[in-house]
Amino acid sequence: MILQSRWYLFLVPMQVLYMVNTSPTQWFPDRVPSKFWHGIASVSKDDVVAVNAINEIGRSDLESRETTELDPEKTGATIVQYIVKDEVPDNSLKEGPSSLETENYEPTTLFSWLTEGTTEASLLEDIEETTPNSALETVVRDKEGELSDEMDIRLPDTIRPLHYTIKIQPFIHGNLSIHGLVEIDIEVLKNTSEITLHSADIQCIYHTVTISPLDDDDVSPQVVMIVVEPNRQFLTATLNGSLTAGKKYRYSMYYIATLTKEAKGFFMSTYTESDGKIKRAAATIFQPTHARRAFPCFDEPALKATFDIVLFRERNMTAISNMPLRQTSNSKEQEGWLVDEFETTPPMSTYLVIFVIAEIESVASTNNDGIPIRVWARNEVIHQTKFALQLTEKTHAFFEDMFNISYPLPKLDVVAVPSGLSMAFEGWGAILVYDEAASLLANSSTISHRNNVGRILAHEIAHQWFGNLVTPHWWTDLWLNEGFASYMENVALACIKPEWNVETEQVLKDLHEVMRLDSQLNSHPVSVPVYHPDEISKIFDRISYEKGSSIIRMMKHFLTEETFKKGIFSFLSDHKFGSATQDDLWESLSRAGHEDGVLPRNLTVKAIMDSWTLLMGYPVISVIRNVDGTQAEVSQERFILSRNESTGEHDYKWWVPLRYTTQVKPNFTSTDSLIWLKNSSSSTVVSDLPDKDHWVIFNLQQTGFYRVHYDDNNWDLLNQQLLSDHEVIDVVNRAQVIDDIFNLALSGKASYAKALNMTTYLQKEMELPVWNTLFENINYMNAMLSNTDVHDELKNYILSLLEPLFAQLGFENPLSSNFWHEMKNPELTHWACELGHVYCVEGAKELYKTWMLDPQHNQLASSYMKLVCCTAIAHGGQQEWEFAWQQFKEIEGNDQKDNLIKALSCNKDFTLKDRYLNLSIYSANEIRSHDSYMILDSMASRPGKQKILWDFCRQHWSKLQSMFGYQYDATEAIMLIATKYFNNEEELNEVKAFQKDHENDSMVKRAAEKAIEQTARNVEWMEKNYDIIRVWLNEHWSRQTVDI
Ligand SMILES: [Zn+2]
Repeated sequence: MILQSRWYLFLVPMQVLYMVNTSPTQWFPDRVPSKFWHGIASVSKDDVVAVNAINEIGRSDLESRETTELDPEKTGATIVQYIVKDEVPDNSLKEGPSSLETENYEPTTLFSWLTEGTTEASLLEDIEETTPNSALETVVRDKEGELSDEMDIRLPDTIRPLHYTIKIQPFIHGNLSIHGLVEIDIEVLKNTSEITLHSADIQCIYHTVTISPLDDDDVSPQVVMIVVEPNRQFLTATLNGSLTAGKKYRYSMYYIATLTKEAKGFFMSTYTESDGKIKRAAATIFQPTHARRAFPCFDEPALKATFDIVLFRERNMTAISNMPLRQTSNSKEQEGWLVDEFETTPPMSTYLVIFVIAEIESVASTNNDGIPIRVWARNEVIHQTKFALQLTEKTHAFFEDMFNISYPLPKLDVVAVPSGLSMAFEGWGAILVYDEAASLLANSSTISHRNNVGRILAHEIAHQWFGNLVTPHWWTDLWLNEGFASYMENVALACIKPEWNVETEQVLKDLHEVMRLDSQLNSHPVSVPVYHPDEISKIFDRISYEKGSSIIRMMKHFLTEETFKKGIFSFLSDHKFGSATQDDLWESLSRAGHEDGVLPRNLTVKAIMDSWTLLMGYPVISVIRNVDGTQAEVSQERFILSRNESTGEHDYKWWVPLRYTTQVKPNFTSTDSLIWLKNSSSSTVVSDLPDKDHWVIFNLQQTGFYRVHYDDNNWDLLNQQLLSDHEVIDVVNRAQVIDDIFNLALSGKASYAKALNMTTYLQKEMELPVWNTLFENINYMNAMLSNTDVHDELKNYILSLLEPLFAQLGFENPLSSNFWHEMKNPELTHWACELGHVYCVEGAKELYKTWMLDPQHNQLASSYMKLVCCTAIAHGGQQEWEFAWQQFKEIEGNDQKDNLIKALSCNKDFTLKDRYLNLSIYSANEIRSHDSYMILDSMASRPGKQKILWDFCRQHWSKLQSMFGYQYDATEAIMLIATKYFNNEEELNEVKAFQKDHENDSMVKRAAEKAIEQTARNVEWMEKNYDIIRVWLNEHWSRQTVDI
């Protein structure tokens, strides 16, 4: 799965509305007082239950939400009333139930209500033809409440699924219910009288639950009791006898579920066509644990089975699943409905099952083996997907070749699912890109955008083998799945699009970013034991994806490419159509490494990689040379940014692959001379180095996931080399030197004077990856100093450094420009404008003016939009701001909207700032759900706006909290944003006072504690570094003048 950056924001504020498995006591009557009463939710003390009518009410259609407390003593529940705006047409909404009686509630009443609105007959009609399970005596809803740590949430190991037949009829244009039949052929592994599978938010039609032997000669016990456990998401059928090990049975049931509004399970999305028509589509998001919301199943990745999938759809829609269509027929007695049956899948995990039902069309081609490859999108945007189709073909061919294993399925679809989620998923045979405008796949946009398209497709196509053909045995190995696909996306693009320079641009950027994250004391190992679905969802983070990718890159380099490919091939071949653990992969790679002689016989990949996957963080390697320079003691310790905190009792040590080169014979591509620093020793001695007047540099091409610190003499030698002829040192290692020294300064291991010394050569640096590394690193320093008297000097110093490169590259709207400008220039230009470079500011203002005059024809390249708008707004007035706000409301495409929402914070006018902040919380119908965060966050990053933001947050605290759903994560995020760059005692005291004022609210108290820690760190940074930087700037900069 790929999560676009927006998703990280989106996850937090999302209001949770969902329908849970219902029990009699949770449903309450409603009087249907008026036509505005469109949904009822009964809210138990712990969870929200939203009936399906609510699902169709968009955030922008909602006037208000009122909660009425029912008698809590009696019912423990609440009725929530959703009032919909007048202008929303009545026929787009359904009325809630009108005839349920609280006391007299019966499951059948609920059933009839859930089926109401589906005016046509449904596949549930077939129930009449089945024999009800007359043996069923009891249905128990059990074990309410929170999960406890002691509860085993894994399925019993008594049964495994062999084959599913799933029939699903979603009423996308009805009441949003899903009617389903699931038949599961099972094999009994150990004698048992219970069948437990996963089911969440599903109303099982109990009397249809049956079990029968697959072999006619056998007899089967009957289901006599069903136990529903919402907390473990279990549905257990108890039998009146034992199932026999080795025997096979068919277990089946009819059920009703609901198309969800949030991105879990089988969800419904609405979108607007260009003629204003509102349309609907439905698609799945099952990873990691949501297949169980669409059909009862054995929802663990290792429990693979084959699938026959049957989807009911309305005639004007198209249905897509993992396999090609077997046949389409008319649904009996259901006017307008068709039934699509798909071919049987190979064995696969439940989370990879795909259902899509939407009004979409395709463009197609075939690969060399005649396998159809298609891209699907809405009719309006299908013409934009040719580039995506070409790239899919090429990437698909690349991976077939790379893995040396034919693509395992008979077709590959890439489906642009109309929804505004901005993410993608590796459905087997059907990759889903959740993107309403198909802009994630568009071929008409900028090269940076194409790069993004390439990354998404390469990532998901890599999963078709690594993840889908061989699947992680359990979610603990998620990092391997995601890290591998993330690594492979770069390998594929480096081959297919060498001009994109992925290795220097993207790999370095991701590596530096994730190293920054992983240097926090409270980071986590890539391999984390996880059990509960909530824990599983949480590990889809950057550590899993990007650290995973970085350590796999390191491994490929120490094994060599050939051996790496050989090991991967045997891993995939040995485990195909099955599941595997990271140890299985290590074993295949060790075997290949030993065979090829690239790994010492007494060393295994497991030994090396366990140190990188089971420990959080990474080491800093100190290289201390002796007096004559010919020997160095190389030692390791965990690198942590916060200098006052210890790593505790644990002795953090890694197996560190060391490769170095020297000034005597610089060779940055060398793959020999590998030295291991063992995890059993703190240090090792490296001999045969040149004399003390020649530098050495470690971690060639920064393939190792660690930092390097040198003695003063070696740092000085490196600095002299950079000043005299920087190109002797490879560009990746120049970026590495900058990244390492600034992070060492931030951690207190080196001084800022040394870090700044290493920047003086940059006037000659023409490679943007190095510049971008510098920009990543000076951001914090710049923000810390933004309200001090040295800020102008710092700004002017950096301007003087970037002036030669900026003058060479120039500044033009890259829509009419070449790759170099489009891909690489925006960061540099952003900084030039941000620091007030006159030519940059004037250029940006000019572009903005042209855009304002004719927004239709004088468009801005999306990569430049933020910096052009921000600069023009910062140096303009109300007119510029209003224009951007208008554009934000009119423009399509989430990227453009993101750029504008950030740029709007750049204004300097106090009234506008206030208005903008107010928009973040009082304009739900004008902004998207994640915009509120973005407004606060971008405001926090503007120099001098901290105080305004902080005052605003304090003043509107309860509104902010309610808006983000009273969740701890959201509360903490707001606190940390509002105080992001606080760095003096007075500000620290203000945060403490705020905490005191909220001392009775434990959530705020905890979040404020984090903000206090953050502020204290900033204060400490100022105390330690302000003078050093001031003195350095005085000595090196203030006496010079540069005409810019
Ligand atoms: Zn993925």
